[in-house]
Parts: sequence; structure tokens; C-alpha cells
Amino acid sequence: MTPKRRILVSNDDGIHARGLRALAEAVRPLGEVWVVAPERQQSAASHAISIHTPVRLKKHGEREFAVEGTPADAVVMGINVLMRESPPDLVVSGINHGPNLAEDVFYSGTVAAAMEGAILGVPAIAFSLAVYRKFEFTKAARLAQHLTRLALASLPAPWRLLNVNVPRDSDGTFRVTRLGRHSYGNGVVEQTDPRGRQYFWLGTNEYAHVSKAGTDVSTVYEDGVASLTPLMMDLTDAASLPHLRRWTVPASGAIRSSGAATGKGSRSRGTAGVRR
Ligand code: MN
Repeated sequence: MTPKRRILVSNDDGIHARGLRALAEAVRPLGEVWVVAPERQQSAASHAISIHTPVRLKKHGEREFAVEGTPADAVVMGINVLMRESPPDLVVSGINHGPNLAEDVFYSGTVAAAMEGAILGVPAIAFSLAVYRKFEFTKAARLAQHLTRLALASLPAPWRLLNVNVPRDSDGTFRVTRLGRHSYGNGVVEQTDPRGRQYFWLGTNEYAHVSKAGTDVSTVYEDGVASLTPLMMDLTDAASLPHLRRWTVPASGAIRSSGAATGKGSRSRGTAGVRR
């Protein structure tokens, strides 16, 4: 008999989030579940880790811990501290309260938690419910259980992860997609606070996405079908390598002589200090 699979569940909405509960319950029949999640809401925390402040653990129950820190901190604590005797077979993150489509993956704490798993050598899946209100996790949890079972049977390669987004009216199916493009508008709203001080609010409600078949945004928002996008941590732009390898700089001697010839620089301030 194969040893029981170990699954680390994390998120960015915090340990009390309903989406985390739904995901933990959905994957519980599939292995030994550890919940290690941020103590507080960390949405849009991206991949930050705490290096200037201590990270504290709070035990919430059997194999369940809150981390005073970021989503990536939680996954580090799970893999390198709490489960270090035997690392998890899979990290699952979510279910996020909100979409993580297209460029969202660069800001998302939910995706970052999965990415941290991938970096530490554990395959990972990020799950998000692509709605903004009236969160109902039943359908997303069912698909999460299904995809987690598939992933445990044929684990994704190291340094890779899956990003799953489920629309409200999911029919339970999914499609394999690419990252699309979208925008929340570039507007920054300027306001004055009650004490007369200026402040800014980033992002406006001018949502738009590029409509393109096969992308996560079009699949979720136009077709109403869940998207599964494979991501990898190697962000190298392979297509640009041949072009960039033709770039050159002049020999170092040429740069130095042109700089010395002008004789004008930040040193010409006229102070009577020590000249070299
Ligand atoms: Mn979130």
C-alpha cells in the first residue's frame, strides 16, 4: 500500500476564509491534510516574504496553523518547518475569493502560495472563484477535488504549477487555457481625506480584457467554463534570446576614454575638498 499522500492547503484570504475551508474539506478524502495559512487577509500580497519581522505560528487545531505573515511565508513554514519530516506531495492554494486571471497572477497571493510550493520543489495548484460577490464555493470545491485527485495521480513537473479559475455558473467541466490579457484601468483616483490631506486610490472600475479564444479570461468570462492554465517559474523569454545575443557593447577602453574627455561630471561642484 502506498503511503498516504500529504497535502498542504494554504491561501491568501486568511485562515478563517470560507474558500480555504471549502478547499480543505474537498481534498480531505484524498490524503493527510495540513492547513497552514496567513492569520490575516493577504490578497494582492504577491510573493512577498517576511525577512525583517519575525514569523509566528499559532496552532488552530490538529495539523492546522495560522502564520503571522504572507502567503509565501505560510508555504515556507508548512514545507520547511511543520512538514519538514516528510514534505507534502502537493500544495493547493485557495479557493480564492475572486478571480486570478491573466496579469492577476503577478499580484495574487493565492498564486504566489502555489508558486512558493513550486520553487521549493512541491507541485502546486491555485484555485480561484472568479466572482466578486455572493461567493458560493460548492462547484469550485468539487472541481478542486477532481483536479487534485488527477494531479496526485500524475504530479506536475518541478517548477511548475496549475492556475484554476472557476466561474459562478460552472458546469463542472474545465478547459486547458493560456494566460490572457486584461486591465482594471490605469486610473488613479485622487481624493482629500477628512484632515485635508491628499490620498490616492489605485485602480478604477474600467475592467476590459482582450477577447481571444483559448485564454483564461475568455474561457471564464465569455464561455462560463473553468480555466486550467499551466504556469512555470522559468520566466525566460526564449523567443528573444537570439536577438539579444546579437547586442554588444563597445570595448571597455572606448567607454572610459569618452567619459574622461568631457571632464564634466558630478565632481565639478567646486567644493574645496580632496580631489583624487
Ligand atoms: Mn484573496
